[in-house]
Amino acid sequence: MASNLRILILEDNEADVDLLLRELKKSGLSFIAEIVQTSIEFENALQNFGPNLILSDYSLPSFDAVTAFRIKQIKHPHVPFIIVSGTIGEENVVELIKNGVTDYLSKDKLFTLSTKINRALNDTAVRKEKIITAEKLRIQAVELVTANKELVFQNEEKEKRTADLVVLTGNLKTQQQELRRANDLLISQEEKVKLVNMELSQLNQELEARVVFRTKALVESENMFRSMMETIPQIAWTNTIQGKVIFYNQRWFDYTGFDSKQDNLQGFNMVIHRDDLKLSFEEFRTILKTSDGGEFQVRAKRLDGLYRWHLIRLMPIIDEHEQIKLWVGTATDIQELKLLQQQKDDFISIASHELKTPITSLKASLQLLDRIKDNPQSTMLPKLIVQANKSLGKVNALIEDLLNTSLANEGRLYISKQKFVLFEAITECCHEIRTEGLYTIKIEGDKEVCTYADVTRIDQIVVNFINNAIKYAPKSKEILICIEKINDMAKVSVIDQGEGIHPDKLQNLFDRYYRIDSSGSQYTGLGLGLYICAEIIKKHNGQIGVDSELGKGSTFWFTLPVLL
Ligand code: ADP
Repeated sequence: MASNLRILILEDNEADVDLLLRELKKSGLSFIAEIVQTSIEFENALQNFGPNLILSDYSLPSFDAVTAFRIKQIKHPHVPFIIVSGTIGEENVVELIKNGVTDYLSKDKLFTLSTKINRALNDTAVRKEKIITAEKLRIQAVELVTANKELVFQNEEKEKRTADLVVLTGNLKTQQQELRRANDLLISQEEKVKLVNMELSQLNQELEARVVFRTKALVESENMFRSMMETIPQIAWTNTIQGKVIFYNQRWFDYTGFDSKQDNLQGFNMVIHRDDLKLSFEEFRTILKTSDGGEFQVRAKRLDGLYRWHLIRLMPIIDEHEQIKLWVGTATDIQELKLLQQQKDDFISIASHELKTPITSLKASLQLLDRIKDNPQSTMLPKLIVQANKSLGKVNALIEDLLNTSLANEGRLYISKQKFVLFEAITECCHEIRTEGLYTIKIEGDKEVCTYADVTRIDQIVVNFINNAIKYAPKSKEILICIEKINDMAKVSVIDQGEGIHPDKLQNLFDRYYRIDSSGSQYTGLGLGLYICAEIIKKHNGQIGVDSELGKGSTFWFTLPVLL
């Protein structure tokens, strides 16, 4: 029996309601009931009261059971609907049941109410159960279908995967084969790599050995280069192609007194003569732009502050790619050369002058002779001939000096030795010197001493000494020639009492072209006489020299080996 049954009663007759309620209570049902009479009340109760069972009169003044049933069916199809009415006829009852009304009960048979209610409720419960079961079944069926679909899908997937697996297995096999082949290749290549490695290591060792050798050779060649740079007599350095000096040999430091910390450019500015700086920078830059080197001359200051002329020579060092690697520079001291050049220039000018003077005189004598050639009685004639001979003699002497110098320079001064007594030879030669009665030549000393020499050349020396005494010591009226024997040498001295020679000049007297009064205005001469004398004595293994004291006179002397 259902408990707390909610019964909606559609009935307009209160007595019938009472009867119904009484019958319901009698049946022992636990219930609550709501009684409605109109369509609105019925619809409200359906929604708000929520009945489990509806008991409806068949016909009401404004409403009826068929309409109420249709309303109920819309939203509450499972709530049992029992018509409780008077007589409505068999056909109507059948029609109502066909349409879905749960049951019919005649008001005069109310005692069957509880049975009908229970049956209706049971039917409803069974129907509900059926519906639930059907729904469950339907859901299960749907689930089954879904599961089936899933299975089919999974199956298909599986098949696909199996197919993929087959392909994969095939691929794997191919890949395995390829791997095996690659492995074999790797092994063979590894062998090759090993071989190459061995060759490489061998090559490496060879290269290392070569590098060691080359480095050693390089160090050696650099050492050689350095020692070469240190050995040469010049100042030497190396500079980059941009002109930066990277090495100086010791001679640079010795010459300039600089230390190695001295800035190159500053050093250069300090050493080069102010007047040569601009030119030397220009020359330096010009040479660096060439590829074959060049040279120029500058004056460079020595440690003692004296400037000396230097020849700067720059040579490029070319590498194996024909590119200039660096420059090697040398500075050669050409001071002596410069002086010699200067002397030579001076000499040419003096020689021209010296030659011109007697030639002019000779020319004048000849012109005068020409004028008086038709007058042989003229007293001028012999004088002019003497004068012409004198001039010719001077020219001849000068040319002789020049020739002898040239021969001496070339080492071809011809010497023809013979045995003779010095005193005799010198006495004879002095007879030939014309002193015009202004000077006396006195010869004294060893009259015996003999020598083995070129008598003409020895005469030449004596004549030169005497002529010099006449020329450069004119106030000394007596010229003394002294012959002596000192150990195994014979010494011949030509002594005058002239003005003497300053001690500073003495050491250069026998140099070529040297003249004390180089202006040449006072005395004629080429500065060659004493030089030739010295060369002649050298050939005889003797010595030559001068002793002089200012204001007292000079003694020019030479020695010759004595012939015993
Ligand atoms: P030069 O041909 O010019 O005379 P030398 O070689 O004979 O040249 O002499 C060189 C220089 O020595 C002369 O210019 C002169 O100044 C100096 N000299 C030579 N002999 C004497 C002397 N007896 N007294 C002073 N000076 C002399």
